[in-house]
Amino acid sequence: MSYFRTNIERMSGYTPGEQPKDGIYIKLNTNENPYPPSSGVLNAIKEAINENLRLYPDPVATAARTKIAEILGTRPECVMTGNGSDDLLSIIIRSFAGEGDKVVFPYPSYMLYKTLAELQDGVACAVDFTEGYSLPEDFIVEGAKVTFIANPNSPSGTMISPGKISKIASKIDGVLVVDEAYADFADDNCLSLIKQHDNILILRTLSKSYSLAGIRLGFCIAQEPLIQGLMKVKDSYNVDRLSIAAVIAALDDQKSMKAHTEKIKETRRYLTKSLQEMGFFVYPSQTNFVLARCMKGVSAHTLYQTLKARKILVRYFNLRRLDDCLRITIGTREEIDILLKHLKELVGTTHSKTVPTCYH
Ligand SMILES: *Cc1c(COP(=O)(O)O)cnc(C)c1O
Repeated sequence: MSYFRTNIERMSGYTPGEQPKDGIYIKLNTNENPYPPSSGVLNAIKEAINENLRLYPDPVATAARTKIAEILGTRPECVMTGNGSDDLLSIIIRSFAGEGDKVVFPYPSYMLYKTLAELQDGVACAVDFTEGYSLPEDFIVEGAKVTFIANPNSPSGTMISPGKISKIASKIDGVLVVDEAYADFADDNCLSLIKQHDNILILRTLSKSYSLAGIRLGFCIAQEPLIQGLMKVKDSYNVDRLSIAAVIAALDDQKSMKAHTEKIKETRRYLTKSLQEMGFFVYPSQTNFVLARCMKGVSAHTLYQTLKARKILVRYFNLRRLDDCLRITIGTREEIDILLKHLKELVGTTHSKTVPTCYH
């Protein structure tokens, strides 16, 4: 006998990328930033380590929201912070979708969206991206309560134009969550759509472009009535004192974030070109990773395993449309050069006869 709700019993749960305990790997599997956080952030956290930790933090993180609003050119009333954007995703799904409600997202995308729908006992509607990773007409599902789009998308790295996102927001029922975890690596973003659409929520995070995955801080930008409603659903103290200090200092140092982002984009161009020369198909990336499809006769799974044995971690997904691909986070130029050296060695010799199988 199980004590769990049947939908929880049925679901398998989200599987995050591997986080090995020892630091011996070149880690290119979970889209962390290879550069350190701003020294201003480290100092701000150190300063916040004092006896005030005895006290609860500001429940609505006013100082953080004020800084975010200032940097993004909006008002604090239109901003909410969370324990990573994953916390905000969880608050959003609990706010808008209940049992039997339709939750829409493209496939393949961030796998957490499906898990969130299952947690609510909702109806998960995964709509396939086209071959070129644009959205098909049937992406708009009648009666959907929540529609998620990671933009730029993971694991493809591709992007839907703000114009297209705006059209979708006008046509759908319910809210449209534009998960912009990678926006700082992209040429465009959807922030300005907030003004025209009362059903759009934009999500950002410090985890990728600000090199702060370990801090767990994300933020949501939307029109005031949506933010007010979400505030009722969040935990009282969902962002701690150290994270509030960190986000203010991180946003104050735009210069170091932008410098790191430029380096990553440069390495992205280099990695893309090098992989293409080796015969991989590389999807056009607007993120800090690339999705590379293996050439015929080369098994992505074997490559993943062999690289791992050589202490290089990349991401392999045993899923339809992805099982012939590797997702590679953009590391430092030195890390990428080591990866490329091994790949060159392997691709010449890895004529695996195993045909990738589909599990979904
Ligand atoms: C990394 C990522 C997140 C999670 O961000 P956190 O702020 O670390 O929780 C959310 N959405 C997408 C698409 C991501 O890639």
